[in-house]
Amino acid sequence: MTPVKMLCAALALLLTGAAAPARAEPLKVVASFSILGDIAREVAGDRAEVTVLVGPDGDAHSFEPKPSDASALANADVLIMNGLGFEPWMIRLAAAAKTKAKYVTASFGANPRRLEEGGHNHAENHDHDRGEKGHDADGYPKAARDFDPHVWQNLANGMIYAQNIADGLAEADPEGALVYKANAETYIAELKKLDLWVKSEIAKVPAGKRKVITTHDAFGYFGDAYGVEFLAPAGVSNEAEPSAQALARLIDQIRQEKIKALFIENMSDPRMMETIARETGAEMGGELYSDALSPPDGPAPTYMDMFRHNVPVLVGAMQKN
Ligand code: ZN
Repeated sequence: MTPVKMLCAALALLLTGAAAPARAEPLKVVASFSILGDIAREVAGDRAEVTVLVGPDGDAHSFEPKPSDASALANADVLIMNGLGFEPWMIRLAAAAKTKAKYVTASFGANPRRLEEGGHNHAENHDHDRGEKGHDADGYPKAARDFDPHVWQNLANGMIYAQNIADGLAEADPEGALVYKANAETYIAELKKLDLWVKSEIAKVPAGKRKVITTHDAFGYFGDAYGVEFLAPAGVSNEAEPSAQALARLIDQIRQEKIKALFIENMSDPRMMETIARETGAEMGGELYSDALSPPDGPAPTYMDMFRHNVPVLVGAMQKN
């Protein structure tokens, strides 16, 4: 090949990569829950059709799949999961559907929060449903249950999600690799700006006032990243009821420390928090989006909107502590 021809070939390669041809059919992507679905859409652009199993305001912890969910998995090219025991039903469902799809674990590579052993309510919750032989009763490896799955509540981890999703989509659709990479870079730059904004907003609250009560323990990563202490009666799984004793302890703590920032989450049963509010005289600070987005016309239809909604309501409530 002459040098000119080589240059032409190299240029042609570059051009086809940069302006990746539209796929004849969009890549079929299934994401386990709404937050992952939104990040996947940002990264995929119009090269993929993203289906979400646990939709807006849905609780992935207690999700029960429908037959149509199994057929979505059977026909998918890529499955995107959070991992760390958040959606064990999806692994069972995908196996039953005999899918050939590529699996992407979005939280892979993020530094997981280890759950405390004993003395803490969520440890009780995740211990009692353990089965035999290194697996939970639901078939998920025990090790995954030792970690807090709510990794997305730190925007730095959202950046890891976007990167993992871009890599996974590129493997399933190599022609679109540069598109996914570029989309992920643009999106990650936006997340970085939002992360700085969150830090500057939280900094408005004196450190001693940064205490918040939520229904279930979904904000551990947020708390670690942004310097807020979250207390929750329902543990990380949102499934088991807290014991009367654990609830009484929490109510004592709220009274003693005069915590006023009480929140319900969009996907949790509000009754327990209403009881706590009555018992302590604290007012409800409003609703936080934790494990699911809102419908399109709600206050948190995207992952970034979730932070734009949650942060001001958290700051407002903590300032009253
Ligand atoms: Zn949760």
